[in-house]
Amino acid sequence: MPELPEVETTRRGLLPSLQNRTLTRIVVRNPDLRWPVPADLEARLGGLTLRGIGRRGKYLLFDFGAAVQIVHLGMSGSLRLTRPDEPAALHDHVDWLFDDGTLLRLRDPRRFGAVLCTDDATRHPLLAHLGPEPLTPAFDAVYLHAQCQRRSAAIKQVIMDAQVVVGVGNIYASESLYHAGIRPATAARRLSRPACTRLNAAIKQVLTAAIAAGGSSLRDYVASDGEPGYFQLQTRVYDRAGLPCRACGTPIKRIVQGQRASFYCPACQH
Ligand SMILES: [Zn+2]
Repeated sequence: MPELPEVETTRRGLLPSLQNRTLTRIVVRNPDLRWPVPADLEARLGGLTLRGIGRRGKYLLFDFGAAVQIVHLGMSGSLRLTRPDEPAALHDHVDWLFDDGTLLRLRDPRRFGAVLCTDDATRHPLLAHLGPEPLTPAFDAVYLHAQCQRRSAAIKQVIMDAQVVVGVGNIYASESLYHAGIRPATAARRLSRPACTRLNAAIKQVLTAAIAAGGSSLRDYVASDGEPGYFQLQTRVYDRAGLPCRACGTPIKRIVQGQRASFYCPACQH
């Protein structure tokens, strides 16, 4: 599943090729994504110039001035640049053609992604209630501690709650808790201020490293003709049940929280 680092890498990869280009055509081969692709999408966006591409959580925000196109990659979506004569494959559901001949193509085999359009992204129901971005100063230790104090849920579920902070998916939550030395099932309100300081720093560090790893493979990620594949991280705990902790050798444990697998080292995390 594309997580925040893949979405941010996609944003950075698309921006230089698409910024200040005028959208000439949209081809929707299959509108049945998580929500229907609006029938008037081309009527609203055609002829407009793309001013920039923003991101809020895992939503890409294509700023066309008069309107903003919201794209979510869902479980299996990818956006890539190709040539107009490239034949569309089975799961290539939406194309955007720009005035210089650049074609942007959405592939989404499982169709949990979304393409929407709004006049005001800040007030859109999908975006209006999101918590702060994890890599901004608004997400600091004081904020995280205050959020934890109000919650008895497990800390892993709290940091995966988009109303607390956006974009911390399952892999990055497990990895961040490892780096902070905190067990995933710990009640959030039991965390001390120093623990929240470590966790806040770990979330920023883990996401920043993942974006940097994506940056090095940016060309392949965006321009490849095949499936993009998501970043292969060398994880410390995620998906390593029973394997020795890379720091202390203790076997990594797996538990299930909210129907999602969590992994931790029983010796390094308390
Ligand atoms: Zn360990």
